[in-house]
Amino acid sequence: MLTQVEQAVKGLISPQMEAVAKAEGFTPEHIRDMVAAGKIVIPYNTNSKPKAVGIGKGLRTKVNASIGTSSDIIDYEAEVRKAKVAQEAGTDTLMELSVGGNLDRAFMAVHCGINRYTIERLRKQNYRYGGLVSKGGTTMVSWMEKNNKENPLYEHFDRVINILKKYDVCLSLGNGLRAGAIHDSHDRAQMQELIINCELAQLGREMGCQMLVEGPGHMPLDEVEANIIVQKRMSNEAPYYMLGPISTDIVPGFDHISSAIGSAQSARYGADLICYITPAEHLALPNEEDVRMGVHAARVATYIGDMNKYPEKGRERDKQMSKARRDLDWDKQFELSLIPEEAKKIRDSRVPEDEKTCTMCGEFCAAKGSDKLFKADLAGDKV
Ligand code: SF4
Repeated sequence: MLTQVEQAVKGLISPQMEAVAKAEGFTPEHIRDMVAAGKIVIPYNTNSKPKAVGIGKGLRTKVNASIGTSSDIIDYEAEVRKAKVAQEAGTDTLMELSVGGNLDRAFMAVHCGINRYTIERLRKQNYRYGGLVSKGGTTMVSWMEKNNKENPLYEHFDRVINILKKYDVCLSLGNGLRAGAIHDSHDRAQMQELIINCELAQLGREMGCQMLVEGPGHMPLDEVEANIIVQKRMSNEAPYYMLGPISTDIVPGFDHISSAIGSAQSARYGADLICYITPAEHLALPNEEDVRMGVHAARVATYIGDMNKYPEKGRERDKQMSKARRDLDWDKQFELSLIPEEAKKIRDSRVPEDEKTCTMCGEFCAAKGSDKLFKADLAGDKV
């Protein structure tokens, strides 16, 4: 069986490439060429055969929801319910990152980019305000230190790739030393790992495996653009999977918002896949409601980011929404809403006296008033 990359390099167009081309408005040949170049990936687990989703250059920025047990809360049924909630809320991809219970039933995350040089950078810089925040990264560093050995996933990366290729796995190169505090953003240890991950992305791609590079983490907004430029240059534009970033450290309970602000920036500057962050981040294992809020926040962020990433696609939907608001056309407003079920839920919970208006201003509805005053001027479509 040929992987997606191997098919693309041979000039073949897979059904998954066709599906992505149709969904994103490109020719299948374009998608094939971008997969061959490693600039677009199509995760497609050959066991579960999911809907094919493209991630990468020129495509809509996608949202990922990670679910999975912890060592404290091992409830497989709850994780399945969370996966379903994430799907209903509109996530594009799901990652299963269980660390508690029967792990033979789970997938795994691998951290190949941590090696002796990375640890040396960490030791020499001699600080980390936020410590290490990746479970897999911390485990790998501890193992290497205890055994005084190189990371086997780095040392035998070719073997890892050959195993993954059997299942046409799309490998996300984990960011084990990602900054978990904005004051650690772009420290030397993190950058060392990014360099190695970009190198491995090229090596894996040349071996015929689809590769993504994972990014931070925590980062102030003014560093987002530079981070993405560096990753894209060093990896020859491998798809970039950003974990937000979370853009301040002081809003536990609202990290889905802090992350959505960072995500809009990272999508704008070229990140291709955004990991949702839930309100439970830094506090607890997310529940179903947290998952729903996290996916919705990430979808809002990627939509805003894409408005700026792809200005050539225009902003027609926003314009039509403005007109629907001006005209108090509620059906149209819901039709144009990114997440209409939430909009309807709020409106239906507070029914106005006059169904044309809403309970915010009631009889003083500005839209209704201005409609009477300026109808002739405002009804047209001037721009
Ligand atoms: S009542 Fe106020 S908030 Fe509601 S539609 Fe009219 S102007 Fe807008």
